[in-house]
Formats: sequence, structure tokens, C-alpha cells
Amino acid sequence: MRTVFRNARVLTMDADDTELDRATVIVEGAVIARIIVGEVVDEQLGDRVIDAAGHLLMPGLINAHFHSPVNAMKGALDCLPLEVFMLFETPAEGNAADPRTAYVRTMLGALEMIRNGTTAVLDDAFFVPAPSPAEIDAVMQAYADSGLRATVALDQPNVPELDKLPFLASILPEPLRARAAAAPPMDAAGLLACYDHLISRWHGAAEGRLRAAVSCSAPQRVTPDYIRALDALSRAHNLPFYCHVLETKLQRVFGEEHLGGRSLVRYLADLGMLSERMQIIHGIWLDDADIALIAESGATVAHNPISNLRLGSGVMPFRKLRDAGVPLCLGTDEAIADDSINMWAVAKLAGMIHTLSGADYATWPTAREVLDCLVHGGVRAMRSPQPLGAIAPGHQADLIMVDLDTLAFTPINDLRRQLVYCENGGSVRLTMVAGRILFANGRVAGIDEAALRAEARAIAARTGSMHGTPEEWLPYYREMVLKASARDVGLARRLDHG
Ligand SMILES: [Zn+2]
Repeated sequence: MRTVFRNARVLTMDADDTELDRATVIVEGAVIARIIVGEVVDEQLGDRVIDAAGHLLMPGLINAHFHSPVNAMKGALDCLPLEVFMLFETPAEGNAADPRTAYVRTMLGALEMIRNGTTAVLDDAFFVPAPSPAEIDAVMQAYADSGLRATVALDQPNVPELDKLPFLASILPEPLRARAAAAPPMDAAGLLACYDHLISRWHGAAEGRLRAAVSCSAPQRVTPDYIRALDALSRAHNLPFYCHVLETKLQRVFGEEHLGGRSLVRYLADLGMLSERMQIIHGIWLDDADIALIAESGATVAHNPISNLRLGSGVMPFRKLRDAGVPLCLGTDEAIADDSINMWAVAKLAGMIHTLSGADYATWPTAREVLDCLVHGGVRAMRSPQPLGAIAPGHQADLIMVDLDTLAFTPINDLRRQLVYCENGGSVRLTMVAGRILFANGRVAGIDEAALRAEARAIAARTGSMHGTPEEWLPYYREMVLKASARDVGLARRLDHG
């Protein structure tokens, strides 16, 4: 099918970052075929003609870090530190989601992203208590049906809780200590079998829209053997390798306590794991040596400023990473750490939060830089073999149409700044992925959204609270977090330096 957008204002985000006042964009099948400046004559029109007068066409947004399995938990918790917050993500033992529940929860997040103009997601999906082929299939089928472009990994630790955190072994009383020392529900062989399933069944599916990634969750949450096996899988199939690194100060203290004073970045480098395939997630408590190692490796860093504020993790050293040449992408993180799954809000905060890091305003992000992270950083992290992230011939037709006759753009002073600082997703009128219109005229194509919402409510009513009840652990985790917070690690990433 040929789709023609006429009379559009276009932000190409190509190598020249051109802005066109009036252009015709022709999409053939899944790919942008031509861009003609000005109007076209009738014989060039296609099967589907969309008058985009008064609208902006731009590449779709990329949510470069996400965890779909907690999509149904939005608003479930007040702000808490990561290590305490994670206690609530684990439902009671044996409470694995049935495939339909996994499908519905995945689709909830997909709908929210499609409606606000996100066209691709990097989903670091975790499974409680452990992944299964049926639950993996449910997640992937939801993405297949939604039309989103999704790159999905299985985020599962394979070491006991006690080994992942500093101080806990001495803080926890029995019998909690013994429970925290128990082996996790699935070992490395079981997890690698699940990766076999994910890759053989889904990698490259849906005309290439669905792809696999690997994930170790975080280096301290897995054994060296398992992280090496994941790296080998990543290399063999050219898959992104998701890895949470130095999200919290406590993780910096972990290196001092358990890695002979090495940072987790140094530890990854010593294992030979840093590469351009790796996506370092968060990277807040990095020092200058860590930044140099990351830059040298070509790895990407995923910046999730709303999640970082929601969990009190601190402020990532944005300018130091950019100056070192590290590609940065933006993500929401999970739906309880950025409860609206809205990349416009992430972009706005990314544009503002780094004013806290230094008085020299020449170091603060510009709107152009934020948009670059939002689109091109995400493309870099995805490692897609298909060109993405520009309104340019030969690129996948992953694009959005933004209504400029809204309050966000009235009057237009600077398009890029208003995209970053004024837009909240409310002006998105059309979302297209691989040439297929997923959202237009206020509706998501092919999905009965009201029925899906009703089903999600029924599931929540049937299963009760979807999060765990970790009251017995809370005083000990609080002691651990505050003890780590009191340590001087030579870095300041929070206003209280803690
Ligand atoms: Zn995450």
C-alpha cells in the first residue's frame, strides 16, 4: 500500500536535521519512499491520501527502557528507594501470571505508548517467579497484535537475594536470612532455554518489528558464567544487552563491599562485557573512570529521569557522558516508576533536571539534544538492521503526526523547544509503525480498547493486590539503604549528597 501525507510540516531528524515548512511524504509499504518539498500533482498520489495541513510529521518516539510486567501497577506505590520498591514488585510465591493476564497487561502499556506517539519500545521484561514459554509468547503476541516495534529481553537474576545487596547478610535475622540465601527459582540453564524459545520463535517476527535482546538485569544479580553466556548470545545474534548499572548509591557501595573496591562498570570491563551491544541503564553513580570505560566501549546509556526522581536515585551526569561521546537514549522505566508511560514527560524532565547539576548553564541540555536522545539514541540502543529514526527515503515509516493547532503550539516560537517543553502527547493525531497506521481519529486500530480496559479491571479485581506484602522485610531494607546512603563514595548525585 502507498500512503501519501500532503502539506505536512516535517521535522526530518535526518543527518542535516532539516525542517520543511510544506512537504509531501510518500510511504510505500513499510518504508518512506520519497519526500517532495511543496505540493505534488495528482498522478503521484497513492491508495491512501492524508491531508496533513497544519500538522507536523516527525519520527516516532522511542521508549528505550521499560519493564512491561508491572504495567498494571501504575500508582500502586508512593516514592521509595529502588531496593525497598523492588520488594513490592514480587507477588506472593507461585503467583505466576496466566498467559492471558500477561497479554492484557502488555497491551495496556502498548496502548498508552501508541496513543501518545511512541513507536518503539525496548522492554526488559521480568517474569515472576520465572519465565515460561507460554508467558513469553503472551507478551510477544501482545506486541505483535499492537503493531508496536518491540525489542524484548528476559530480565532474570540467577543469584540469591543475599548476594545482590551490601550489608544484608549481617542485618537480616533468621529465618529471613536463610530465605534470602535461597537459590532463585530458575538457574542459568533454564533461563538460557527460555532465551532459545524467545529467539527462535520471535526474533525477527512480524516482518522484523519484533526482536530479541538479552538482559542480565544487573551485573551483581547474576553469576559470571551466566553473564558470559548472555554476552555470547548477544554477539551471535547481534542483540542489545540490557544491564542496569549504578542506578543507586547503594550499588556503588556494593562494589566497595563485594568487588574489592571496583565499581560495577570496572567489574563489567574486567569480565570483558562492555561493548557497543550493551545498554547501560541509568548510570547515575558513575565516576570519571567509569565514563571513560563506557565511552571507549561504544555502549549506550539509557536515561530515565522520571524514574530516577520517583525512586530518589539521583541525577545522571548527562553532560559528562555527552562530552565523552556516549550515546544517550531516554526511557520511562516501568509503569510504577513513571506511572504515565509518556515519553513527552520524560523528554521535558530530561531537558530540565540537569540544571541541578551545575551553575554553568552552557552545560545544560538543549531541546535539540533531548530530541536527539529521544529518537537517535533509541535507534542506536535497538541495533535494528533496518534504518529508523528519520523522515528520510529508505527509513522505516515509524512516524507520528502532531496537530499544530493546539495550545501547546500556539503560537509557534521554536518547534523543537515546544516539542520538548510544551507537548504532552495530547497533540498526537496519528501514529504509524512500519507503514501501518496504529492510531488515528482518536482510536487504536484493531483493538477494542474498552473491552481490554474492562478485562484489566476484572483481572485486578480477581487477583487482588498485584504486588507483594513485604512488611516483614521492610525494617531491614530500610537499615541497609540508610547505611549505604551515609557512606561517602566521593560523588554527589543528590541534593543532600546522600
Ligand atoms: Zn529498569
